[in-house]
Amino acid sequence: MSAPRAFVQWLTCRVRIVVLAGGYGGARFLRGLLGAVPDAQVTAVVNTGDDVTVHGLRICPDLDTIMYTLGGGLDEERGWGRVAETFAVRDELNAYGVGPSWFGLGDRDLATHLVRTQMMAAGYPLSAVTAALCDRWKPGVTLLPMSDDRVETHVTVDEPDAGRRAIHFQEWWVRYGAALPAEAIVPVGAAQAKPGPGVLEAIAEADVIVLPPSNPIVSVGVILAVPGVREALRAAPAPLVGVSPIISGAPVRGMADQCLRSAGIEISAEAVGRHYGARSAPGDGLLDAWLVDTADAGTEVPGVRVVPRPLLMPNPAEAATLAAAALEVARAVG
Ligand code: GDP
Ligand code: CA
Repeated sequence: MSAPRAFVQWLTCRVRIVVLAGGYGGARFLRGLLGAVPDAQVTAVVNTGDDVTVHGLRICPDLDTIMYTLGGGLDEERGWGRVAETFAVRDELNAYGVGPSWFGLGDRDLATHLVRTQMMAAGYPLSAVTAALCDRWKPGVTLLPMSDDRVETHVTVDEPDAGRRAIHFQEWWVRYGAALPAEAIVPVGAAQAKPGPGVLEAIAEADVIVLPPSNPIVSVGVILAVPGVREALRAAPAPLVGVSPIISGAPVRGMADQCLRSAGIEISAEAVGRHYGARSAPGDGLLDAWLVDTADAGTEVPGVRVVPRPLLMPNPAEAATLAAAALEVARAVG
């Protein structure tokens, strides 16, 4: 079935699309979007709550995953870090007994963190550093950190031996595989953070806004915790479409199930859609439309147009089909 003529015309102009992204799901969706509408002006507002300092280096996992994925530098099999990576520095540090050994910093990846840390030490904000790194990678989208202020997601865990303590989200996920039950997930610093330069403007000027299939708690949820972002999304004239990261009651990859459980949200496309809520309703809801997988047809979210479509993105072509579907739905509700 070919797309309606008016829709194709809409896509061939430089449509402005804003995507609120985490790392893996966000990057895959963005790559699909660039495949579907190469002429679009895409702005990704990216979660920085995963950011962490290791060996004195500032690391931004979600920004780097998107930059490497769209710039052709990602290790596609692993899903993070650089392709053709080596780990000589990590092995040397281990030989000195210097940890953390669970955070696998690769040699190529280290260069990115050295440049970032050096620039930040010289006084450049993260947004300027990100733009400088993107000069090399040319991701084809404008990458905006959600904030230049420091925000770090922490997870409160309660272990029988160690007692209750808060650990960095990276330690919870990378070191413990999210196996320690999370009592609370807190984006520390978010309430005091300001949206990064250009974030609110991009949202206000967008033709389409997408919540991609990123983690609703630790990716999209942390971006939404920055004061002003949710209000800007609710006030924006553009249609707002969400894509479910949950299919048939489970995440496609990662630990969204543990995150949703800790927030008291059922692990289903319907519950995540209801968690985001309807923009048409009073309160703080965001969605005009919600894409769920065809396996979740029958999902209902009050006040939101729910559209079943195949949501898996095993390759760039299928991600492009999904992105085109999201835009078509946006056009229909816009
Ligand atoms: P992270 O920052 O690397 O954890 O990545 P994101 O937050 O951007 O994305 C993580 C989410 O992507 C997980 O909750 C997955 O369920 C979801 N995800 C991964 N691959 C797919 C896919 O092919 N389709 C859909 N719909 N979701 C996916
Ligand atoms: Ca992340």
